[in-house]
Parts: sequence; structure tokens; C-alpha cells
Amino acid sequence: MPTVGVLALQGAFREHMEALRRAGARTAEIRQRGHIADIDALIIPGGESTTIGKLLVEGDMLDPLKIRLRTGMPVYGSCAGLILLCRTIENSDQPRLGVLNAKVRRNAFGRQVDSFEAKLAVPEIGSAPFHAVFIRAPVITEIGPDVRVLAEIGGQAVAVRENNVLATSFHPELTRDLRLHRYFIGMCGAGAKQGLDRDRTKV
Ligand code: GLN
Repeated sequence: MPTVGVLALQGAFREHMEALRRAGARTAEIRQRGHIADIDALIIPGGESTTIGKLLVEGDMLDPLKIRLRTGMPVYGSCAGLILLCRTIENSDQPRLGVLNAKVRRNAFGRQVDSFEAKLAVPEIGSAPFHAVFIRAPVITEIGPDVRVLAEIGGQAVAVRENNVLATSFHPELTRDLRLHRYFIGMCGAGAKQGLDRDRTKV
């Protein structure tokens, strides 16, 4: 069974850990560089993307994580996690992992609509709508050719996948619906062999 790490530097990591446990996955909190070699997949939670990025730099974790993700380790980012995965962040040079070929706009729903909930069609995980919680959420404004849009709101992408990279603007860990976590765990079956690349992070 693959071990799914949850980046536990800041934000809603406990909720992701709990959702993964309920979905039957083996989990690990990732707090420092030395933990990165022990995981087969990673979730980056919501929180504050500038803070998480700064802590990744300070902990010297940005480059080893980039290597793991570029060599195919499955990763799922929700909200701030999505922002950290995107190659381009509008009007920002904040640190990022940048493995998702997409451009993101932070806080895209404006101050008036700080947070909201919506019933979202996500056909990839089933026909029943997903109860999506958005909190100061980003949207994806441009995508590369290999990026698939899994869900959108008002014509704007809020869930995408590019190969081993899954990202949502919303927070499935704040609901009881485990379908997105299960879908991600399903991606880990194919990615588990990437554990072979673990040693490359040890340099
Ligand atoms: N607005 C936050 C950011 O830019 C993301 C909000 C969230 O993760 N709920 O990092």
C-alpha cells in the first residue's frame, strides 16, 4: 500500500490526514526534508500559499520535492496547494513547485465572495455533484495542452489534472465526501513504482 504524505507546514493538513485515513490510505505528515524520501504520493493542503512556499524554502524542501514530482510522484494540491503547483501565478513571484502547466489567479472570487459553497459536477469521480467548499479560492486561467479540466464554475477551471498532478480550487477535506481522496489514491497505484526514484532525493 502506498504511503501518502501530507505537507504539514501550515494550513488544513489535519483534515487531509483524516480524510486519507477514512479512505483507507497509509499516511505520513511531512514536516522536513528528511521525510520526503519516505512517501509515494503527496497532498499539499489549503492555507496560505505564500507562507507554505516560504517554509518550503526555509526547510530546503522545494528542490527535493520538485525532483520527486517531476519524476512522476502523484501529487494533489487543494486551494493554496493548487497555487503552489502552478507554473505561473498571476502578479506574484512567490516560491512554488511549478509542476502544473497552468496559470492561476489567487483570490479570484473577490473580497465580496470570500468563501462560498457550490454543488459541482465532477464527472471524473461520478455523476453525483460534489459539495465544494471555496475559501478565498483561486481559479485557473490558462492551461497547457496536457491539462484536463475536471470541473469548472462559470467557465473557469476549478479542478484539473495533468498526468500525476491533481489540483482543486476547493477543499474536499472539509466535507465527508471521500471521492476525490479515493480518486487520488487511485492515481497512486500507477505512481507507486515512482518509489524507485526515492534515492534521488537523498543527494
Ligand atoms: N488565498 C489563499 C492563497 O492565496 C488560498 C486560500 C486557501 O487555501 N483556502 O494562498
